Amino acid sequence: MNAANAPMVIIGAGHSGGRAAMTLRAEGYEGPLLLIGDEVHPPYERPPLSKGILQGATDLAGCTFCDAAQLAEAGIEHLVGNPVARLAAQDHQLVLQDGRALLYSKLLLATGGRARRLPMAPAALANVLYLRTHDEALALRDQLQPGARLLVVGGGFIGLEVAATARLLGCAVTLVEAGPRLAGRALPAQISDRLLALHRERGVDVRLDVGLERLLGSPQVDAVELTDGQRIACDLVVVGIGMQPNTELAAAAGLEVGQGIRVDDQLRASAPDIYAAGDVCEFRLHPAGEYQRQETWRNAEAQGRHAALNMLGAGLPFAVIPGFWSDQYDWSLQTTGVLAGSLHTVSRSTAGDGLLMFYLDAEQRLQGACGWGPGNSVAKDIKLCERLITAGPVLRTDALADPGQPLKQWLRG
Ligand code: ADP
Repeated sequence: MNAANAPMVIIGAGHSGGRAAMTLRAEGYEGPLLLIGDEVHPPYERPPLSKGILQGATDLAGCTFCDAAQLAEAGIEHLVGNPVARLAAQDHQLVLQDGRALLYSKLLLATGGRARRLPMAPAALANVLYLRTHDEALALRDQLQPGARLLVVGGGFIGLEVAATARLLGCAVTLVEAGPRLAGRALPAQISDRLLALHRERGVDVRLDVGLERLLGSPQVDAVELTDGQRIACDLVVVGIGMQPNTELAAAAGLEVGQGIRVDDQLRASAPDIYAAGDVCEFRLHPAGEYQRQETWRNAEAQGRHAALNMLGAGLPFAVIPGFWSDQYDWSLQTTGVLAGSLHTVSRSTAGDGLLMFYLDAEQRLQGACGWGPGNSVAKDIKLCERLITAGPVLRTDALADPGQPLKQWLRG
């Protein structure tokens, strides 16, 4: 066999890898297709892990867009338990852990990432838990018993969603965030403040500007010491301090790697016939823009699909308006576009004490928006904002700030 008629191979059977495999088939690719994963499960979407799965309200089948039967029916070989050990990019060749070598015609790297480990606890401890995979979510669910004292490290979305779910399950929750505000990497201060108020109102003991110094107790952790010297007793610790992209395979193969696997505007990595997508992919939305990675559902979905189209020769530049959401208690956050600190912001109040923030460029055109409100109340406005970003009308800040002015008016004509 030569590389040209070898299988298309996708490394990483997460959301973007699975979406790419299904898209290749949906778009008519009939050749051999191999999806190599390191979890035993078929590809699934991760947002429910910190909510519905932890609460027992949904199960894996509820998070899967292609179960084992669908994969089989689509003729997608899902290989587990034998991860890729080496990539020889110039030879179009992979070597699996068991030593088997195989050729690929096109390769997609959708290797995602892993939860960043606490530097002071490199070894596994039974009651120090992380949340990235379905199995990790199940392990955590077992320990979130009513009355359990949970210490959450990290006030990003993982930490906040776990804290909210744990409160709903009747746990006592303390959350420790090293930075000055919650979700500070992703959100404006006004929304961080609202998040903080809601979590405190729902009984989470949130500590800002303080990190974890060390874990106490053996073999189980029974307390933690913080960087300010305080000690907090706990029954379990959940760590949500970010993700580390799985770039090692690509780096060892000599591909260009920054914070992720670098790709061009068509999601092509720096060697022939290799693409990257999802959490591990470092890309630019504009030729002069900064390289970025996005750890979002929307990015996994869009890049998985897009990489597949380009593996089939479409040659399309990747251009999608970014966005993400987070559900906490009965409130939700939604964003669209770019929320850069360099942009001018305008805010307006929305129904039920919600808040909508608009991000404008120097010409008063919308670049991004962020909404926080009860239930699904901000969804419609965020959808309209997305259309406004695409349409690009010049907006008036006084009208934007006024809840009485419908956003739709700027889309007419
Ligand atoms: P995730 O997706 O895991 O929520 P984020 O990067 O969005 O990741 O958020 C992680 C949060 O954890 C950040 O707000 C960061 O300031 C915080 N953090 C990182 N290290 C520590 C630490 N040792 N103690 C407390 N908070 C930490």
